[in-house]
Amino acid sequence: MFKQVVSKQMNENFDICIIGAGMAGATIAAYLAPKGIKIALIDRGFSEKSRIVGELLQPGAVETLTQMGLEHLLDGFDGQDVYGYALLHENDQIAIPYNKNETGLFHGVGLHNGRFLQKIRASALGNTSVTKLEGKATGLIEDKNGVVTGIKYTDKTTGKAEIINAKLTITSDGFFSHFRKKLSNNKKSVTSFFVGLILTDCPLPHSNFGHVFLSGPTPFICYPISSNEVRLLIDFAGDKAPKKPFIIEYLKNNVEPYIPESMQSYFNHAVSEQNFKVMPNHYMAAKPVLKPGAVLLGDALNMRHPITGGGITAVFSDVQILGSHLMSMPDFNNHDLLQKKVQMYYKDRKHANANVNIMANALYGVMSNDLLKNAVFQYIKQGGNCAFEPISILAGLNRNPKILIKHFVAVVLCGVKNLLKEGLTNIPKASRMFWDAVKIIKPLAKNELTISGVFGPSRH
Ligand SMILES: Cc1cc2nc3c(=O)[nH]c(=O)nc-3n(C[C@H](O)[C@H](O)[C@H](O)COP(=O)(O)OP(=O)(O)OC[C@H]3O[C@@H](n4cnc5c(N)ncnc54)[C@H](O)[C@@H]3O)c2cc1C
Repeated sequence: MFKQVVSKQMNENFDICIIGAGMAGATIAAYLAPKGIKIALIDRGFSEKSRIVGELLQPGAVETLTQMGLEHLLDGFDGQDVYGYALLHENDQIAIPYNKNETGLFHGVGLHNGRFLQKIRASALGNTSVTKLEGKATGLIEDKNGVVTGIKYTDKTTGKAEIINAKLTITSDGFFSHFRKKLSNNKKSVTSFFVGLILTDCPLPHSNFGHVFLSGPTPFICYPISSNEVRLLIDFAGDKAPKKPFIIEYLKNNVEPYIPESMQSYFNHAVSEQNFKVMPNHYMAAKPVLKPGAVLLGDALNMRHPITGGGITAVFSDVQILGSHLMSMPDFNNHDLLQKKVQMYYKDRKHANANVNIMANALYGVMSNDLLKNAVFQYIKQGGNCAFEPISILAGLNRNPKILIKHFVAVVLCGVKNLLKEGLTNIPKASRMFWDAVKIIKPLAKNELTISGVFGPSRH
């Protein structure tokens, strides 16, 4: 068996070592590096990948990127502005534009995640303060007091075990994180799977809008990701990945009948090509454990269902919060201050992301329930604040949980009222819908809104 030998120790001492140059790790490197902070950025591979994740940036993500001075990274690779969301249910549809700011409408962006990530990485690596390392991080190094002082990794080219020393290690190694078990008490669960297809040259019922289709047995969504490509993501309930023959049958029986006529031929062509990509959808509330010298960022810390496209809104928000705390450090030698900054980041981020997380999983729960999805459609159709406040939450622009809970309760009441208007024989249905709604919102509110949930119990 290949025996790993630590061949050399990097002579340099870094301020920060970042494990994972994905959306979170590469962006925080691009944000911090211009300040001269010495960073080691390690990833298993720096080549462009084709993935079905992170292809729609909600306006909240675009706004945060702009506040960090990095919005130019969205230019030059055929990303498409997205101006709002359309809901399609049976023969009815509603299109709600995003909210307005001083200069016009807020907008999101549909894009190829791999292309965008390469631009973020290039921006980070363009700074002399960033050292690029290609290899697999294999472990954290701790001193005798349990302080993390760096990492071990296997260099991709030489296959040798190496060491990096850093004052702070940011672990942003994504949803299969190897490091989160040391730094959190997180429990992840698979809510469902998304199967991704690309429809080429397909016109959308509402051009440059995100679309949510509610009529089928499970929800599906689509949005433009380039000037001639639309990403279609179809939800498969359950915790086992669907196999190809089942996917084809499911698409024919449970999706095709609900695809608008104008999109049918593009959909059928994509199905016939069988170029499916399947990804698990997770929910994982953040339960970090404070460990001196290390901090979790991105999907390694916190995940929500991707139906609302909220992941990168949360990731960029975390990058901005952690980045701002780290930028306010006079230097990285004061361990106690560094620890305080990490603690403040965990607290601040919890408040900032509660709405994004609750909205994602509550909406998924609602859209997977026949009575509740009717109720939400009827509620939003009323227009005014019944449409504009919910879309401001979906967009990641409104982070006030009271507004979210107000609308959630109002949707349920609207559903109960409509059912009872049809006749008192609907009382059992209305009661079932009410209790389904409680089952959806209660655990989310407990995880995301309670202060006691900021930190998990210490492992030490
Ligand atoms: C199906 C699906 C669709 C989604 N769609 C959207 C969307 O439309 N909009 C949205 O906002 N969000 C979406 N999300 C969520 C979003 O993609 C994630 O929140 C985001 O990509 C998380 O970024 P990250 O940097 O934490 O992880 P990643 O982007 O996965 O990056 C992790 C990086 O760590 C590296 N790495 C891992 N282990 C190691 C190791 N041991 N050593 C070195 N490197 C390592 C990997 O190579 C990778 O580059 C979606 C998620 C899913 C599952």
